[in-house]
Amino acid sequence: MDCFPDLAEQGFLDVHKTSLACVELFLDVAKPGVENAFDSLDARLQFGTFSLNQRDQILLYGLQPAVCVRKSALNITNPGVAEQHSQRDDDCRPGQRRRCLVHCHQLQSRMKKGAGEYRFRARCYHGHFPMALRFYNTLTQQVQPFTPIDPEAVRMYTCGPTVYDFAHIGNFRTFVFYDLLRRVLRLNGYKLHHVMNITDVDDKIIRNAVAKGKSLKEYTDTYTEAFLADCASLRLERPERIARATDHIPEMAAAIQKLEQSGHTYRSDGSVYFKIASFPGYGKLSHNDFGGMVAGARVDVDEYEKDDARDFALWKAPKPGEPAWDTPIGTGRPGWHIECSVMAIEFLGASLDIHAGGIDLVFPHHENEIAQSESLTGQPFAYYWLHSEFLLVDGQKMSKSLGNYYTLRDIFAKGFAPEAVRYLLASTPYRKGLNFTFDGLKAAATAIDRLRNFAFRLDSAKPGEGKSERIEELAAKAKKDFREALDDDINTAEALGAVFEFVREANTALDAGEFRAGNVAAARELLEQFDSFFDVLKPTATAGGLSDKEVEALVAERNAAKKARDFARADQVRAQLLEQGIILEDTKDGIRWKRK
Ligand SMILES: [Zn+2]
Repeated sequence: MDCFPDLAEQGFLDVHKTSLACVELFLDVAKPGVENAFDSLDARLQFGTFSLNQRDQILLYGLQPAVCVRKSALNITNPGVAEQHSQRDDDCRPGQRRRCLVHCHQLQSRMKKGAGEYRFRARCYHGHFPMALRFYNTLTQQVQPFTPIDPEAVRMYTCGPTVYDFAHIGNFRTFVFYDLLRRVLRLNGYKLHHVMNITDVDDKIIRNAVAKGKSLKEYTDTYTEAFLADCASLRLERPERIARATDHIPEMAAAIQKLEQSGHTYRSDGSVYFKIASFPGYGKLSHNDFGGMVAGARVDVDEYEKDDARDFALWKAPKPGEPAWDTPIGTGRPGWHIECSVMAIEFLGASLDIHAGGIDLVFPHHENEIAQSESLTGQPFAYYWLHSEFLLVDGQKMSKSLGNYYTLRDIFAKGFAPEAVRYLLASTPYRKGLNFTFDGLKAAATAIDRLRNFAFRLDSAKPGEGKSERIEELAAKAKKDFREALDDDINTAEALGAVFEFVREANTALDAGEFRAGNVAAARELLEQFDSFFDVLKPTATAGGLSDKEVEALVAERNAAKKARDFARADQVRAQLLEQGIILEDTKDGIRWKRK
């Protein structure tokens, strides 16, 4: 898996061998003053590809025409020549066709630093250029191929819950999205370093804890535990690290002190504010022009509207009856925005691959995170910003006053299974608005049932020997379409379509005797691939209820009783199972059981 070993011997490239065939190129700025040329290429110069031609020259070209690295701006270190190439195709040596996705954004950030040698990293795809995993990036407003800084592992930060109450169904849309994001990254072979925060100090929490006469910790522990239990019921993978804000107050104070020393802040009545005029990139994520801002105007609350863009509180002065911490910058508590910047940088470093959250966090929260973080480190904070859209309930914004406000617990209490909720929240692509209705939830349960019925048919139907080539092709196509849909900015609707299309065809083929024993394995593989991502096929065992094994033992006992014509006993077992919420169905392929 060596990349370009022949060229390494010539001293042309420094080959850094890893299992993923990562290469590091050493690039030189060709002419004085070209840093400006790179600057003018702007944020769009984020990706490029390169390949080798017959003369061992390196061709550099962008995925989009006209945003390519310019020939005049770049020269590969002696003795190579960098050329601009307008097409994807190239004239690689036969049998040695190589194309690589290059981390030009890393290159770009280093280019700005001045003259000398510059390094950037590339991930090499031997022999082909796949339709790579790609995401819509709020920062660039484009769908972009995904290449992490480290080719093997992804550094990701997602904004977690503010634990002032039980999380509601709208919150869980975002948390399910984080889970799908994790799973699609793992399907692509990446290891994950994923950090999520728990905001356990903010305006709302303090207000509620005081009203209930509880300490901050006592109050937030209850809701943190409830949140984690809810996540587990929806089968959400646990981030590698969950960080509570109150465990990192000294680090936040230190960061604020650093921002004070570099002139990004001012004080007023014991609070410290971030001066947004000190960060020229303010507005780059939300794509707002804040040119008309009134300098020195400020907000004290953590959440506010777009047209209220003002200097925001990094550190809030203590108020009577509120919790406060003694730190070198004074007594008080951190604002919400600084929490995420500090914990992200502490655990993941100055630059992250992915930062994600709900769309409502773009402004002000994420805009403020960028301003603080980049002012602190001088590095780009995150390269990919992913945001999930809103959830409506019955076509309306969810609110307690409208009576359409649901926690996960409210929905389970109505008899819906967690996997139906998971399916419903996952089935609409994350960038599309989702309208939550109970009819939709019933339809989700029915869809899961269809797949479980199909899985049951595969296990119990006894198709004739042989193999249908048509079915094999359909299964292969479904698997491919499923993966391609997920790699296309997590298009879950398309992915589901591919699976259901196959199930429909396979069911018809089973009825007609076309589906043979030799096709079972491919169909099962498709279901496994589906479930490694959607994770809804296994029913949730109800607390205190029968385990799958116990149910199966009872079903077998009933079958034996029926065979022995002991119908009284058979009925007794059926009633016993029903009492435990287990329904038996006589199908033409045998008895099937499911949980109510
Ligand atoms: Zn955050």
